[in-house]
Amino acid sequence: MTYPNTPLFIDDAWSDAADGRTIPVHNPATGEAIGSVAHASVQDLDRAVESVRRGFEVWRGYTPAQRSKIMRRAAELVRARVDEIARLMTLEQGKPLAEARGETAAAADMIDWFAEEGFRVYGRLVPHRSNLAVRQMVLKDPVGPVAAFAPWNFPINQVARKVAAGLAAGCSMIVKAPEETPASPAAFIRAFQDAGLPAGVLALVYGDPAEISTHLISHPVIRKITFTGSTQVGKELAALAGRHMKRVSMELGGHAPVIVCEDADLDLAVRTLGAAKFRNSGQVCTSPTRFLVHRSVAKEFGAALAEFANGLTVGDGLVEGTQMGPLANPRRLDAMEALGEDAVQRGASVLAGGRRLGDSGNYWAPTVYEHVTPDSRLFNEEPFGPVVGMCEFDDLDDAITEANRLAYGLAGYAFTRSLTTADQLTRRVEVGMLWVNMPSSPSAELPFGGLKDSGYGNEGGPEALECYLNTRAVSIMHA
Ligand code: NAD
Repeated sequence: MTYPNTPLFIDDAWSDAADGRTIPVHNPATGEAIGSVAHASVQDLDRAVESVRRGFEVWRGYTPAQRSKIMRRAAELVRARVDEIARLMTLEQGKPLAEARGETAAAADMIDWFAEEGFRVYGRLVPHRSNLAVRQMVLKDPVGPVAAFAPWNFPINQVARKVAAGLAAGCSMIVKAPEETPASPAAFIRAFQDAGLPAGVLALVYGDPAEISTHLISHPVIRKITFTGSTQVGKELAALAGRHMKRVSMELGGHAPVIVCEDADLDLAVRTLGAAKFRNSGQVCTSPTRFLVHRSVAKEFGAALAEFANGLTVGDGLVEGTQMGPLANPRRLDAMEALGEDAVQRGASVLAGGRRLGDSGNYWAPTVYEHVTPDSRLFNEEPFGPVVGMCEFDDLDDAITEANRLAYGLAGYAFTRSLTTADQLTRRVEVGMLWVNMPSSPSAELPFGGLKDSGYGNEGGPEALECYLNTRAVSIMHA
């Protein structure tokens, strides 16, 4: 299958960068260069800003029904093109084709849900304290042109969450999509163009991330920043946005604790957590990561999880039957090696994997370490790879303390048959999303976001729309 070179999308037209610069794109399954993406210059960025400034004036003037119609048409086009888009995603990102298809279909659902939710952006009327001749209104308006920054782990979904909520709220948006996985998000944006989105409502750029974010965040036309990526970069961008008093949503890193209690259904826990851990080769912000397992079941659980990991078929995501693909880039391989060595040096032992597979492509074996110590890097840094770190606990309080120890607070998992324990965990584990006896199940209608260093703002449910709305109070007295 041919892989297209990806241009920029500005003012309803696809074009090369003004100075012709490009960035190579590699297939992580082979390491080979497969194409390129346009590298925007400052001149291109200024053109994009001017286009979304005009696009905002047009889009804010559309009714929710008009916006919804175009968005729903885009969702239909994404669905009709699912095979084509998914193949691009697998070629550039590595995930198995079935996962790429699922991600594309979920993005279409996301657009549909927000297309409907846009109808429910209401204000309210507030009675005046003393004068019935006064009408006090609370109004919700789109915040303005948005700069959205999306990473490479879910090339479409991270863009879809931002675009769907932003457009439904009436905002225009410049998307900086990932340079390493550019073609599938471009195909996603093209569906909006083909659905009849007015010129300038969406722009798509790639280039030097730091240059683009610095330029756009400080630009007076841009009113809101939304970023998904590492906590470190998120903090830098939030600081810059603060200096320019811009609205911000941050969906950052996680280090999800998993509490497997004495009374857990172990078969269910192994099946569920194994599938969740190795999905997208562990490059998922909500990936289960710190496995805290009750001492009485730790041996049995560890052995079963290792068997699950060893049984996975790892390979090129385009090949039928592949259950886990390569890591998306060689940086992740280096990280897996460093985190593993450190964990073992500090006393962990390998139950499965723990090594690179082959010498071409970014393949890392599905890995399980037991007896990981709390001071090891694996238990403190987001691994973002197919690696389980396990340690044992005796007392639930200690497990909760460990779960809350890190500055991250994105997602958490627990397995228990006790309602009392589930309720305690609900109250005390400091995460934005908690799943008990089940895998993560993010959907358009549920809030998606973290606490603490995992960020703020939301990317699901009605709360996501709020992030793209200004709230204003207007009072009118009969003259
Ligand atoms: P990175 O921190 O350099 O990049 C993460 C993302 O941020 C990339 O998409 C990158 O293009 C973007 N980025 C980096 N600097 C930027 C800047 N100054 N302005 C705007 N965007 C910028 O590192 P990486 O090697 O790509 O990923 C490493 C870590 O990032 C992972 O280990 C993981 O912790 C985190 N990450 C998190 C998510 C998530 O879903 N929350 C997604 C991807 C990466």
